[in-house]
Amino acid sequence: MLPKVAIVGRPNVGKSTLFNRIIGTRLSITDDQPGVTRDRIYSKATWLSKEFFLIDTGGIELGDAPFLTEIKAQAEIAMEEADVIIFVVDCRSGVTDDDTYIAKLLYRTNKPVILAVNKVDDQKFRENIYDFYALGLGEPIPVSSSHGIGTGNLLDLVLESLPKKSEEEKDDAIHFCMIGRPNVGKSSLTNALLNDNRVIVSPIEGTTRDSIDTRFRAYEKEYVAIDTAGLRKRGKVYENIEKYSVIRSVDAIGRSDVVLLLLDAGTGIIEQDLHVGQYIEEYNKPCIIVVNKWDLVEKDSKTMQKWTDDIRGYYKYLDHAPIVFLSAKENKRVQTLFPAINQAYEAYHRRIQTSVFNDVIIDAVQMFPPSEFNGGKLKVFYGSQVGVEPPTFSLFVNDPKFLHFSYKRYLENQIRKNFDFFATPIKIELRKRD
Ligand code: GDP
Ligand code: GDP
Repeated sequence: MLPKVAIVGRPNVGKSTLFNRIIGTRLSITDDQPGVTRDRIYSKATWLSKEFFLIDTGGIELGDAPFLTEIKAQAEIAMEEADVIIFVVDCRSGVTDDDTYIAKLLYRTNKPVILAVNKVDDQKFRENIYDFYALGLGEPIPVSSSHGIGTGNLLDLVLESLPKKSEEEKDDAIHFCMIGRPNVGKSSLTNALLNDNRVIVSPIEGTTRDSIDTRFRAYEKEYVAIDTAGLRKRGKVYENIEKYSVIRSVDAIGRSDVVLLLLDAGTGIIEQDLHVGQYIEEYNKPCIIVVNKWDLVEKDSKTMQKWTDDIRGYYKYLDHAPIVFLSAKENKRVQTLFPAINQAYEAYHRRIQTSVFNDVIIDAVQMFPPSEFNGGKLKVFYGSQVGVEPPTFSLFVNDPKFLHFSYKRYLENQIRKNFDFFATPIKIELRKRD
């Protein structure tokens, strides 16, 4: 699992700008108005080829909670979820009461806190940097998020502060998680899967305070259901905030071999269902789409096809995910998930022999040769599998720029069809052969 870095600080200091600067795009909106909604508060980031997750806690909003409650929740979430915290302050305003308040909250954590003094591009206020020593959080690090000054230095410090990776034990158990908005039936389905005749091997305390993974055996195989505690209903104010639950979900996705994406047949697909789907795709995890509460649907011979078409329309990027219709409550078809999970896991780790792979590629190219694109015709020389989790293939070609995306899709489909990559995404990289 990748380490996590959280950004905290009062509104308008530049958290969102820093977040975007670090992840290298401008996905979320920045605006002088505080409280602008951010699309994206969680992302994978890379610095000096080291990967980590970045969380912009400023995007976690409690609705109409008082300001200090909101800041407190954000700081608590950072302290709970992150391995390192970047506390952002604004050089132009000097130390404010809100900064002092946040600093006091952060004293309670034993995680490293790095104090970033933002907006140092403004010469007039540069001298203010030293005032921030008063926050008692060590050396203030000058940065300008909007100009990209000092952020490299900041990231060096962040990476130095990350906990040293303990040797991960080899674990052959199949890790899976349930993802879906509240009330789709995640807990019910987990209970149905873990019903009495399963041997629960052990509940394992997770890395975050409230996460518990449940290890169990079923049909002679060992499984770990990720973050089963997260499925329990809890009373804390921020548990029901969608963006926070997204953070938890993404965490669970990252730790899983197979992700079950739950939909509610009773309500149909709504916007909230679509958000997490993107993360599953982005993290390249095998996915099984589960339409739960199938008992609630009045069915005729077309119902299942209609649902399938709708799902394919909404989740275009998950078209490799099989769809299972079931009822957790009535325990109907729940058991079919085990063979599906096994198959997905197996496909996610499958290795294809180079000679067999090349036969398929050569056949595919002969059957349907590339047409001209971008000033040339793609020639595919040979290829091989270069990785698993997910299966990743390299193709050596005359020039990658001649590849039209629809042709890539064609090749991907041929590979998929020939090697039965059930539920798992696959990746194809093109390399130029001189
Ligand atoms: P957040 O509320 O903490 O996420 O703050 P934002 O990222 O939305 O930034 C608030 C305002 O400060 C925006 O107008 C940004 O353009 C501006 N800002 C952010 N970083 C810098 C910086 O390094 N220098 C200057 N001059 N302005 C910045
Ligand atoms: P979670 O919030 O995703 O963990 O959802 P729960 O498992 O708590 O379920 C939410 C509600 O949906 C509960 O009232 C369940 O009894 C109900 N529910 C769950 N699965 C099914 C199902 O397959 N059919 C029906 N009719 N209700 C279900």
